[in-house]
Amino acid sequence: MESKKIVVGNMKMNLLAGDISEYLRKINSSNLGEQVVICPSNIYVPYFLKQSYKVGVQNLFFRDSGAYTGEISAAQVASLGVKYAIVGHSERRGYFRESDQDINKKVVVTLKYGLEVILCIGETAEEKNLLKTARVLKRQILNALRNLEETDFDHIVIAYEPVWAIGTNVTPTNKDIMDTISYIKGIVSEYFHYEDIPVIYGGSVSEKNIKELNSIPNVSGFLVGGASTDAKKFLKIVEVAVKK
Ligand code: PEP
Repeated sequence: MESKKIVVGNMKMNLLAGDISEYLRKINSSNLGEQVVICPSNIYVPYFLKQSYKVGVQNLFFRDSGAYTGEISAAQVASLGVKYAIVGHSERRGYFRESDQDINKKVVVTLKYGLEVILCIGETAEEKNLLKTARVLKRQILNALRNLEETDFDHIVIAYEPVWAIGTNVTPTNKDIMDTISYIKGIVSEYFHYEDIPVIYGGSVSEKNIKELNSIPNVSGFLVGGASTDAKKFLKIVEVAVKK
């Protein structure tokens, strides 16, 4: 994975077909550049690929193929030309009850098919209030990254997304994000002997706060949810984060 900052747009289950056409009209992929990855709903992926966007999926299943109605495999995703997969998003962990073990299987299969992994980790408000953040992040990291080869780590970005900051317009302080990123890098270094894994921040990143967040010295980029569905806001974020 390159060391320059990346911006990942997670559109979640938003936008209708007409909105996507409009979005594509407003943003030309070449205005985004190499360091921007768009993760639309799966049905829209081919539209973005056709216009040369770097594309990721928001989720995939851990089996190679088979009778799993409604799911998509890493093999299918790779065969289409998609390069990234988000794994372990808190909405998957929460609403769909994905366990650390499921997430580990997804990480393994994603790497097996040559995709880059964007691994989401983050504590809930309750865990934060109980001062369990460090413990939760450590557990999520150690479980998600089991059974990997040394070279696999070159294809992983960790997205630190405090659950309480997602879609709330509330963000941690820059100092807290910086300290947590250092902690995450330290865990990966200590337990997997991999130095300086890229860590991006996600949770209420907007065109209003991007300048401030972008000044965090050890942040490798941003995972943007809500604001990525608005072409104008997303362009502004990209401009600040990757086109300084
Ligand atoms: C997300 O869900 O990954 C996210 C970062 O959402 P938002 O930017 O809307 O908080």
